[in-house]
Amino acid sequence: MPVPPQDNHQESLEPDPQMPSPHPSCSGDYERDVDADGYQGDMDEHLRQQSPHADVNTEFFGRGDQLYRNYHTSLNGRPCDVNGVYLPPGAPPPPPENLATDDWTPFRNRTEFEMAEFLYKHNQMPAGQIDRLLDLWASTLAKHNDNPPFADHRDLYHVIDSSPFGDVPWQCFTDEDKPWMDDEYEVWFRDPCEVARNMLANSTYANEIDYCPYREYSTEGNKRQWKDFMSGDWVWDQADKITKDPSTLGSTFVPVILGSDKTTVSVGTGNNEYYPLYASIGNIHNNVRRAHCDGVVIIGFLAMPKSIFHRQLFHLSLSKILDLLKPGMMTPEATRFRDGHYWRVIYGLGPYIVDYKEQVLLACIVRNWCPKCVANREDLDEDALPCSREFTEALVEEADSGDLWEDFGIVAQLVPFTNDFPRADIYQMISPDILHQLIKGAFKDHLMTWVEKYLRQTHNKQKAQKIMDDIDRRIAAVASFSGLRRFPQGRGFKQWTGDDSKALMKVYLPAIEGHVPQDVIRAFRALLDFCYLVHCNIITEDSLLQIEDALSRFHHYRKIFRTTDVVLHFSLPRQHSLMHYAQNIRLFAAPNGLCSSITENKRIKAILLTNQRLDKLSALQVDFTRQGMLTGTCLSAANALEGKARTQTVPALADELHIPHLPNLLRRFLFQQLHPDDPRDPSDVPLAECPLYLSKIAVFNSASLRFYAPSDLSGIGGMHTEHIHSCPSWRGGHSRNDCVFVNTDSNLPGMQGLEVACVRAFFSFQYRGEVYPCAVVHWFDKISNAADEDTGMWVVRPGEGANNTAEHAIIHIDAIYRAAHLIPMYGMEFLPQELKFYHSYDAFRTYYVNKYADHHAFEIAF
Ligand SMILES: [Zn+2]
Repeated sequence: MPVPPQDNHQESLEPDPQMPSPHPSCSGDYERDVDADGYQGDMDEHLRQQSPHADVNTEFFGRGDQLYRNYHTSLNGRPCDVNGVYLPPGAPPPPPENLATDDWTPFRNRTEFEMAEFLYKHNQMPAGQIDRLLDLWASTLAKHNDNPPFADHRDLYHVIDSSPFGDVPWQCFTDEDKPWMDDEYEVWFRDPCEVARNMLANSTYANEIDYCPYREYSTEGNKRQWKDFMSGDWVWDQADKITKDPSTLGSTFVPVILGSDKTTVSVGTGNNEYYPLYASIGNIHNNVRRAHCDGVVIIGFLAMPKSIFHRQLFHLSLSKILDLLKPGMMTPEATRFRDGHYWRVIYGLGPYIVDYKEQVLLACIVRNWCPKCVANREDLDEDALPCSREFTEALVEEADSGDLWEDFGIVAQLVPFTNDFPRADIYQMISPDILHQLIKGAFKDHLMTWVEKYLRQTHNKQKAQKIMDDIDRRIAAVASFSGLRRFPQGRGFKQWTGDDSKALMKVYLPAIEGHVPQDVIRAFRALLDFCYLVHCNIITEDSLLQIEDALSRFHHYRKIFRTTDVVLHFSLPRQHSLMHYAQNIRLFAAPNGLCSSITENKRIKAILLTNQRLDKLSALQVDFTRQGMLTGTCLSAANALEGKARTQTVPALADELHIPHLPNLLRRFLFQQLHPDDPRDPSDVPLAECPLYLSKIAVFNSASLRFYAPSDLSGIGGMHTEHIHSCPSWRGGHSRNDCVFVNTDSNLPGMQGLEVACVRAFFSFQYRGEVYPCAVVHWFDKISNAADEDTGMWVVRPGEGANNTAEHAIIHIDAIYRAAHLIPMYGMEFLPQELKFYHSYDAFRTYYVNKYADHHAFEIAF
């Protein structure tokens, strides 16, 4: 019985909260025959060749049925009762508990709750400042004989702590059965099952959870694509393994994703270095995990292993914390979900996200070896078989530990924690980590360092320094762009953070051009392409080919660093990890939902008590929202002018902008708006036919644009709001005129359907009762009909109209797609010192359209 096609949220711009979850069993047929192994690979191939409509377990998505999914037929999730007995189709869930809509417990009212949330969660205000704020507040209320919501910070903390919600209590173990364990070794943790159950019951992302492994294909060409975790091959293979036991049929698979990241926290008795252990579940969508909606939580603090002995303790601790999951990994347990139904849940250990140093610790390998494949550390990029639990165990049986260390990089004395669990293979679980491997590793620690080394090796000290200074100046001279960190000192800062490296990736390539050989530019371009491609929200079979292509270009062009004696070899574990991305994407789907930056953002909050309070506030918010108690806040869905308007006339604005023919441009704009179907080019229409408008206009300093950019950090729906500035004086200083992409033909791919323009002014006016929000723009012309070969970026130059006047136009703000970032083509020239970033859009003849400005720009400006 085919499921009817649905216009699901998958491809639509705004998710529809009314849509049923894409869950196969919701559509009925529980009595279908199931094959205990699910689909086998050839079965899947067979289905792809057939019409997708023939399959009982296929579901359609997207506008015009662009996508279809095949669901795993055996581990397909069905509602059951509290004892795990499956319900007949259509049976209602047990009645919900009574919910009162005026119960703000433990707070007295909405103001108290929102105040607590604001101070503690959003503002993270220090205790002293909370006290001062509440004192000031109290002073204004004294004359009314009233008090502020809280007496002081202690009162606030106390009220939050008294909430019964969101509370998975912390426990501590020091292993007394093992006298060789030192006293200092405490491990704090909380029940991972409880944490997973809380996530499954969370109603804020009710429509953003998958309950069944699936494979997703485009209807056109039947090409596979990978996005959320449950679309990967790893869950499918796990489902095949799980359902070998017939008692598991019809359960819901909940894979627990783990991550850890070294940090210093105070727990218990003092300041210690700990590994916070993070957990999420693979069922929730990547966008939820990235938007920080309680989709990743801390489940433990592990002590820092300093010796081999401590390394084994590290594994023992992990094993002990996760031991609580073990019964649920073998036998399904009935768990209540947010829809009110019980479902039979079977747990598994999913991917583990850590940087290379901790990968070495987890995989029990010797440094400089790869945790994913058996390649020799002397030449990691050689073709090699993947590591596996079976292979290592066989080797440990055969060889002595000295040989294992020397020839295979295996630390035979250590046993990975995964050996205590069913279906868990640590080598397979180690997952990609964009931040540490690509951004901090290959880009910053390798390529950027090599460029510096190359310059110092090629030139004398003085010349090399002069070039380095110029590179810094070029980076500092890049125009402002929303979301782009400014580098007033170029790249010469002492403490590098992941965010610095990420920001530098966006502007570095044009800054070195002309100072380094062409192959270096091409190597950077290949690496940047690779990073941006693997970061995409959806990865298709075609993008996998592009990823492989970028990798082979990178391997080809990086050779320049060896031929110029900058490096001796490329056997570098983090750089080598690029070789495993394509395979890992097939297994775990899009890496941007797993990247360790999701745990990095949590780092500052990594203090036990704070964390627990935040959990409580979040749980309360979920609860109050579900009861409809927190409705409010609306977002405008369209582009809009914003800020305080100043009144002008058209001739006065023409004067201010030095565009004498502005009134004529406005006449043509009005003609176009009133006669959208007129086939003539507006510039060919005789002015006499165009309406005349010379009176008042309202001039604005900025506009807000909304567009869909799911690969960048954005709200759950993937919508992104951006502010574009065009003002004579930005924050009281220099003027700022941002550039924009203007949609010219949405049927053409990438830059072919886009133009670039600089906004000279935003204004609106009323004509015959209609309000026109618009922009005066100065066009940039593309200098060729393809992107630059070396950098991969399109090149534009300021447009010139007749009589050498700049090419201006007035456009409706709805024609603006989003902000564009341009970086000058610096060429061989050294920048004069006095050149500032706010001169950037006036001082140069040609510019790169910076497709590395953010991930959305990368997806449109190709
Ligand atoms: Zn490898």
